[in-house]
Amino acid sequence: AKARGGNRFEMADPELDQRAITRHGLTTALPAALERGEFFIEYQPLVHMGDGRVHGAEALVRWSHPQHGILGPDQFIPLAEHTGLIVPLGRWVLQEAVRQACDWQQHRTEGAPLRINVNLSPAQLQHPGLVKDTVAVLERAGLEPGALCLEVTESALIGADEGLLKPLRQLAELGVDIALDDFGTGYSNLANLRRLPVSVLKLDRSFTKGMQQAPVDPVDLKIVEGIVSLAHSLELAVTVEGVETGVQADQLRELGCDTAQGWYYARPGPPDQLHALSLADAI
Ligand code: C2E
Ligand code: CA
Ligand code: CA
Ligand code: CA
Repeated sequence: AKARGGNRFEMADPELDQRAITRHGLTTALPAALERGEFFIEYQPLVHMGDGRVHGAEALVRWSHPQHGILGPDQFIPLAEHTGLIVPLGRWVLQEAVRQACDWQQHRTEGAPLRINVNLSPAQLQHPGLVKDTVAVLERAGLEPGALCLEVTESALIGADEGLLKPLRQLAELGVDIALDDFGTGYSNLANLRRLPVSVLKLDRSFTKGMQQAPVDPVDLKIVEGIVSLAHSLELAVTVEGVETGVQADQLRELGCDTAQGWYYARPGPPDQLHALSLADAI
């Protein structure tokens, strides 16, 4: 803001203006930030509900900004999406997460390889190099396609035509799992699920919020029960997001959810945290 003086002015909404400046500043800083290596990934465990063991992780990107500190993806992914930088940024996340998964793999003496889940934004989905790039990343690292799961939001696939689905179909045929992320927030036609090349349904946190404490709303239970049974009848595995309490975990296990993710088990953290948790009998 300008110093006090003759032509001092008042901003109509200083907060809004500050946000705009920041947004503009962040947007223009994105490409250099990628070059300078200011992004890093935290990993949040995916827990098998049957035995309580960690069988994989979701990669969640963060930006260590030299002035603003650590920024969450909600603060910059939409900007990167808007400018197209999400394509190289997303490629970096994929490459780094796959490399990390191989690293864990080398330190595991038993059990199936840890799975790695990576988020894919709509612009990446539309990018013609998606299949080729993904295959190249897997081959270079030596990770089997079956250990990778790409998460695509429900809203990105609503009304998707064959052109948009084709690369996902190709990846699925290669053995990569496709998860429908934030399921339940996009009002998609349930019957539509059948034509999507997805093998995992990630139930949005909003569905399970009402189950945090007993007594749990019986209507909430019925809804989740219905979704789980529909998913299973379509041969989709169900992952629940945002599990914050033991009450939730118990209910969701009883309802037949396959995998869980949330603060109750662990917050997103550095690679070492994930590795340590993956060695535990149950978390
Ligand atoms: P998402 O894919 O739905 O990821 C889950 C978000 O929920 C993460 O937020 C995670 O930290 C948070 N979370 C996990 N467990 C709990 C819980 O028990 N309670 C609550 N309240 N929250 C929980 P985060 O890391 O801030 O990521 C936000 C979103 O940013 C992600 O939502 C995803 O859509 C996007 N994102 C993150 N990394 C990437 C990326 O590499 N590429 C793209 N395209 N998007 C990304
Ligand atoms: Ca996700
Ligand atoms: Ca999600
Ligand atoms: Ca969500």
